[in-house]
Amino acid sequence: MGAPGAGKGTVLSKLSKQYQNQLTTVSSGDLLREQIKHNPSSEIASVVASGRLVPNNLMIDMIFNRFDQLDLFSQDKSWLLDGFPRNVNQAIDLDSRLLHMNNSLNLVIELDVPYEVILNRIKNRYIHQPSGRIYSLDYNPPKVPGKDDVTGEPLTKRPDDNVEVFAQRLELYTELVEPLKDYYADRDLLHTISGDSSDIIYPQLLKLVEKKFNTPLEQ
Ligand code: AMP
Repeated sequence: MGAPGAGKGTVLSKLSKQYQNQLTTVSSGDLLREQIKHNPSSEIASVVASGRLVPNNLMIDMIFNRFDQLDLFSQDKSWLLDGFPRNVNQAIDLDSRLLHMNNSLNLVIELDVPYEVILNRIKNRYIHQPSGRIYSLDYNPPKVPGKDDVTGEPLTKRPDDNVEVFAQRLELYTELVEPLKDYYADRDLLHTISGDSSDIIYPQLLKLVEKKFNTPLEQ
């Protein structure tokens, strides 16, 4: 977990690239953006565009459908969830559905990034919409200004990255995160990583994940 703009997507895409065969990442925001691409006038699209949360039951079904599609549990593969759960009810549902499948979470990581850093980052965040590639004008600029490095297609802002909607997303996160942190701290699962940049956060994240595997992951 981490505030919008804390860099969850960035560090997780690095982690999945580095350990392609051993870790699968499922991102609730990416699942939603995929759906919205196919159905831009849906109710889900307007909820996401406004910075509110998609109803819990829809969200949890979407996550478990993706687990099924990827057939993760039968392969006994390791997986990471990005952006889910966002509130305690989602956490409770997740635990009970995992329990039914003889599975459970063994690590919860919070990325703790100062708000000023996040606000500045969002101003500078651009995406390549078809692929989901993320650029920052500060620390990861495209090779050609305004263009995706791989396809040369134009970069855009995420519609929910505008100032008003972003403020709303940040406020909602702050309200919901404390009870969620308590929930996982009570279960001895919560680890917090603090830092101003993904370069500071990523090595700490790696260390935590490797510790769970008891041995460095193969690269
Ligand atoms: P993200 O890419 O994680 O910042 O998510 C983008 C938007 O998708 C959020 O502002 C919410 O509108 C929606 N969303 C993502 N994850 C969830 C979730 N777990 N529950 C409800 N809505 C979500």
